[in-house]
Amino acid sequence: MSWLERLKEGLSKTRDNLVKAIPWSEKPEAVLEELEFALIAADVGVEATQEVLEEVRQSGKKDLREALKQALTVQLEPDRFRAKIRKAGFNPNAKKATVEPAGKVILMVGVNGVGKTTTIAKLGQYYQGKGKSVMFCAGDTFRAAGGAQLGLWGERLGIPVIQGPEGSDPAALAFDAASARKARGIDLLLVDTAGRLHTKHNLMEELAKVKRSIAKADPGEPGEVWLVLDAVTGQNGLEQAKKFHQTVGLTGVIVTKLDGTAKGGVLVPIVRELGVPIKFIGVGEKAEDLQPFDAGEFVEALLG
Ligand code: GDP
Repeated sequence: MSWLERLKEGLSKTRDNLVKAIPWSEKPEAVLEELEFALIAADVGVEATQEVLEEVRQSGKKDLREALKQALTVQLEPDRFRAKIRKAGFNPNAKKATVEPAGKVILMVGVNGVGKTTTIAKLGQYYQGKGKSVMFCAGDTFRAAGGAQLGLWGERLGIPVIQGPEGSDPAALAFDAASARKARGIDLLLVDTAGRLHTKHNLMEELAKVKRSIAKADPGEPGEVWLVLDAVTGQNGLEQAKKFHQTVGLTGVIVTKLDGTAKGGVLVPIVRELGVPIKFIGVGEKAEDLQPFDAGEFVEALLG
């Protein structure tokens, strides 16, 4: 199955609600009204829904589905692209957000259970495939299982893993890992972090400290801070994302589990409200189920 087919299959629940429920052959007003409900139900968000409807209304296009496709794609491009895209009369394919990391270290954050550890492994494999040497830092020292899981992935992929004893200081471990990356001349270090929710405040402080200690070991790093979000959590995930963004300054978001949700529209408020690009999306547990995000492709798969 190709990636696009997997993506389409993954998004089928969202698509069923979004496009199958719409009476496309009816009068435009009836279509727009149904569309409004469907967009809200897909977690596109109230503001974005109004904008999308307005654009569809104003497009003057006879083909409302095509107009919807265009309006949604624009919503998925980070802010800096939006005005340009509109001016240019729209060309989604020319605006792919790059997945080439801005530095040598990517700090990975997100709450437990969203798929962070698996995503780090998949990213390791992805960048290895692009010819980069990769290293992992098992920075979730709070959860012994997290470190062990990443250790296994490292063995399987032939990726060195910097690990510390359970309960050790994650900032000190990240310092060691960032120093080791530099010393060994490795292209990319992916740093896992804790994601326990029950002591949220401490977690955020801890993440900020981890970030600072990476910068101490290797000035200018981490070049990227990526948040892993579970699409199933919909708009709640967005609240999480805002907290992480305030504390560690996100440069990208990865959305997992798009295969199990009817809320695939949540990508829209993530981009709109955080102004942070979506880097990768996941539609399953296999390595090839994580792929660089492309707004045009996503909307194509979403609307079928
Ligand atoms: P962590 O606690 O955030 O580190 O989460 P894990 O990496 O341990 O993943 C939690 C579960 O989510 C595992 O069973 C993964 O296989 C699963 N998972 C990760 N990404 C996806 C995805 O895109 N789709 C689905 N269906 N499951 C996923």
